[in-house]
Amino acid sequence: MKQEVSHLFFDSFGVPAKSMAFAPGRIEFIGNHTDYNGGLVMGAAVTEGVFVAVAPRADRKISLFSRSAGLVETSLDSLEPLEGEAFWANYPLGVTKVLLENGLSLSHGFNLAVDSNLPIGAGLSSSAAFELSTAYVLAELCGFEADKKTFAQFCRRAENEFVGMPCGILDQGVSAFGQADSLVCIDCADELFGTKAMPTGTHFWIFNSNKKHALVESAYSDRHKECHDALAILQKGYPEAETLSQISQSQLDATADELGDLLYRRACHIVGENDRVRLVEAALDEGDLAAVGAALSVSHMSSRDNFANSTPELDFLAEALNELDSVYGARLTGGGFGGAVMAFTSDAFASADADLVAKAYQKEFGLEATVLHTRAGNGGCLL
Ligand code: ADP
Ligand code: MG
Repeated sequence: MKQEVSHLFFDSFGVPAKSMAFAPGRIEFIGNHTDYNGGLVMGAAVTEGVFVAVAPRADRKISLFSRSAGLVETSLDSLEPLEGEAFWANYPLGVTKVLLENGLSLSHGFNLAVDSNLPIGAGLSSSAAFELSTAYVLAELCGFEADKKTFAQFCRRAENEFVGMPCGILDQGVSAFGQADSLVCIDCADELFGTKAMPTGTHFWIFNSNKKHALVESAYSDRHKECHDALAILQKGYPEAETLSQISQSQLDATADELGDLLYRRACHIVGENDRVRLVEAALDEGDLAAVGAALSVSHMSSRDNFANSTPELDFLAEALNELDSVYGARLTGGGFGGAVMAFTSDAFASADADLVAKAYQKEFGLEATVLHTRAGNGGCLL
């Protein structure tokens, strides 16, 4: 892919690229919507990701070319979010703006080309991979230095403030801190990043449902707001709690009437997910993969029943996969409202099993489920 993006750059702009970078997509292993609630989450970078190439220009124009989305041109002097077909340019433009606000010295515009071998909009976070790879090439171009955590925070800010998506640190954090054959563990309260080895003989299989709610972004924002509203009610009784993740199940139960059914269930999901992350960490340490898998399956049910961020398509895939002996556990991965299901499997799960699940899915919904067998890979880097 390095060659491909280098050629794409040359074909688009007629000069060689000066800097190139890769950043991976990610799997959300366990810990759904906990990141922006100050909680715990475990993810893994995948080996697929986004490749970006860049070179400076003599004028102040910014010219962006995506193999999948085409050309967008703007200027360093008008860094404002774009709408319609050019929306995709907001990811690199947002990163440019945040870096400029934080000391990047860029007197000229630039040409940028982007290529990807990651499914886009499938819940594997192509957006964060695009942001981080852009940050790395711009930093190299301008001699700007920062550590991985700072880059992840800048990219999150670009997505929150420029793109308008109120995501937590999971996507950008895992894309930056990914490590081959390892899970990335994040304590989002203090933004502490660690890694944990994947048990040997385990695999990730991703089933993209190829079906998304029309209004994923607003559904995500609704959940963000519901969590905020639930916390505000809980804080009346527990003012010391700064986030939903500092609330216990018994405190939640004691506040059930004040919360009402909907906010109670939303908060239950967050509190339960944090508990499941702790459980999974302990089970991984003990090598109890059945317990890990059970927590993944329960997580999916909580998404379905409490957080209402699943879909019939994701439910079908998760249920079909959870029935198989070679699958430890399966759950939706990422924000939900469409996207993909992740299956955490043993060596015994094979392409033939994936085909059977995809066939059953096709029969039920008349849709193709795209299957990706992947593994935990390294974080973003310059190429
Ligand atoms: P996810 O991050 O799960 O893939 P998002 O909706 O958050 O889903 O981000 C997907 C968006 O990121 C795309 O709709 C597009 O705007 C942008 N994007 C990702 N990869 C590319 C690419 N290679 N070229 C252009 N835009 C891209
Ligand atoms: Mg995204």
